[in-house]
Amino acid sequence: MGGWLEGKSLADKIKQDVREEVALHQRTRHQVPGLMGILVGDNRSSQIYLKSKEKACQSVGIASQILTYPGDLEPRALKAEIEELNGRDDVDGILVQLPLPSHLDAHEIICAISPAKDVDGIHPFSLGNLMANQDGPKPCTPLGIIELLKFSGVPMQGRDAVVIGRSLIVGKPVAAMLTNENATVSVCHSKTKDLADIAGRADILVAAMGKPAFVRAEFVKPGATVIDVGINRVSDKDLVRELFGDDEKRRRDLEERGYTVVGDVDPRAAERAGLMTPVPGGVGLLTVAVLMKNTLDAFKRRRGIA
Ligand code: NDP
Repeated sequence: MGGWLEGKSLADKIKQDVREEVALHQRTRHQVPGLMGILVGDNRSSQIYLKSKEKACQSVGIASQILTYPGDLEPRALKAEIEELNGRDDVDGILVQLPLPSHLDAHEIICAISPAKDVDGIHPFSLGNLMANQDGPKPCTPLGIIELLKFSGVPMQGRDAVVIGRSLIVGKPVAAMLTNENATVSVCHSKTKDLADIAGRADILVAAMGKPAFVRAEFVKPGATVIDVGINRVSDKDLVRELFGDDEKRRRDLEERGYTVVGDVDPRAAERAGLMTPVPGGVGLLTVAVLMKNTLDAFKRRRGIA
């Protein structure tokens, strides 16, 4: 195996660059970017994700606030709140934490965000720009993946890439970005036949399905670069032992938290891969760093700063 493709150095670099530029704008313009997180209901994971985004904002000097609403909030009321944020000059980014409660249509709510403030890059206007290979906000996790491949010197042009998963926040946009980088891309999903066979042809394999350790070693072409996007909590002790042997950290996770976080790729596939992102410590770290960069970019775009 070539090694682990860790996300930390690139995430630290992105955040450091943002921190320095935010400090410059504060000195010269007396303004800093502002990010508003919207949380509807009391989904525990959503609360944790938004808290970590707020912490990252604090660490780079971006002003941020989490607005919390009850789980039974009417769609019209949520859209009115977003409309109010659209009009506020101190708000550069609006982030609606997904998933939303089932009575709210995520597409309809995302469409209410001004495209200029769509720091998650999932408004149809942003996705249209991505398809057209134009500038504009890009979804954070996919952009983090592309930046990591570039940072690590993994060539994309002319390579066969396979993306497993076709969600709007990961699978589809990362496939579009790989296409824009001149890779030849196949997108697989739950109805795909011969998944292992298709995955096995990939020079770059991206797994974003939400199924712990689903992608086994035999799915991986020897020497391929494997990007594991999955974040899955696993509490099955036998499965954890099967995947990680007597790994001390995993054993402690199970004891102290009752679960350990496992990706969509069986960690033993790393032996066949050329490079593989670890979980945790890979793509997840980049998502939040890219969100900081997207918020700074929205601040600059709205003010016409080059
Ligand atoms: P979704 O549930 O929205 O999409 C999952 C996709 O995987 C779907 O397209 C689905 O196919 C496909 N899929 C499911 N089962 C199979 C199967 N057996 N064979 C082939 N394809 C399958 O998930 P997300 O894209 O939102 O997230 C995927 C994973 O990435 C999750 O673990 C999530 O926690 C993680 N994640 C991590 C982030 C990070 O920062 N690292 C950020 C966002 C997500 P179909 O369309 O046919 O249903």
